[in-house]
Amino acid sequence: MSDTHDTEADVDVIDPDVDAVDPEAGDGSEWPSPEEPAIDWRADFLGWFTAHFATVEVTGSKDGVTWCKQWWKHPEAVARLWALYLAHKQAWELADALSAKSDWWHYHWDHHRTILLDSQLGPFRDCVDGHLSKRRNAEAPIIALGDLPPNEWTPPDAPAYEPESDIDD
Ligand SMILES: [Zn+2]
Repeated sequence: MSDTHDTEADVDVIDPDVDAVDPEAGDGSEWPSPEEPAIDWRADFLGWFTAHFATVEVTGSKDGVTWCKQWWKHPEAVARLWALYLAHKQAWELADALSAKSDWWHYHWDHHRTILLDSQLGPFRDCVDGHLSKRRNAEAPIIALGDLPPNEWTPPDAPAYEPESDIDD
């Protein structure tokens, strides 16, 4: 662990969960190593966010499009935007294929854009005149899950789970 920042209070670094990347798998040399200076993920993400949305033109009916000016309060939107940002980073900085940027637009942006901005089903659907302006109870869960299933229930096709190993040989 490096301790290069002595003004941590002003730096809000988002953990990109780089631990999930196995440095031994493939050529992982492009990912930052612990010895390299820490990336300010917040600044990098917001830089991408601002630049990307400066290029976006929404076509079709304005009535079918909703955006929330407090988008960061929507966990699904944040998760989608973060995934888009990482995929964009890969396509622009790491991918070798000349088609990588087109793939990003086609497979990533076009897909998530449709969901993010959908005024009927998207995460901002209740934010027409401000954050959650259309929702009667802003504190209520977005989807009421109810109870979790009983202990006997398992996902279909899930391998059997044995909490303690009884193998004794
Ligand atoms: Zn909102």
